[in-house]
Amino acid sequence: MSALVLESGDGDGWAFCALGHRHWGLYGASGLLVRHRDENADEWILLQHRADWSHHGGTWGVPGGARQRVETAEQAARREAAEESDLDTDALRTTDEFVDDHGGWSYTTVVARSAVAIPVAARGRESCELRWVPVDRIHELDLHPGFAASWPDLRMRG
Ligand SMILES: [Zn+2]
Repeated sequence: MSALVLESGDGDGWAFCALGHRHWGLYGASGLLVRHRDENADEWILLQHRADWSHHGGTWGVPGGARQRVETAEQAARREAAEESDLDTDALRTTDEFVDDHGGWSYTTVVARSAVAIPVAARGRESCELRWVPVDRIHELDLHPGFAASWPDLRMRG
């Protein structure tokens, strides 16, 4: 039975934080911020264009989702990224974590480094596109509000 529970996602569901927001993920949520530094020392990040039907559909953010009860933030972030894209998560090196704690609910952004910035295709129903974006240009995209709020803190990490 436990395998069945895990497959359906035992963290799937809405939760309210101490700030009165409604968030997806009974045990919190996490996302994977993948960074790459090219040969000119320019920084890139991998952003996900969220499917229109999803929460804050049409915006850009990092792949991620609800944590399961037994998962660490890093395990959840890597699992979600692999479900939502064909990114080779085994090749990534985790460098940092940033916790956005709302009280009773938190979103952890796991920062990881990729040695390459090869094209990544969307997988599943939650993403329509993944794109490497220069750090200096991400403000040109319509960002997911949670990601936009965390970006000033995330920018200097990892
Ligand atoms: Zn909240």
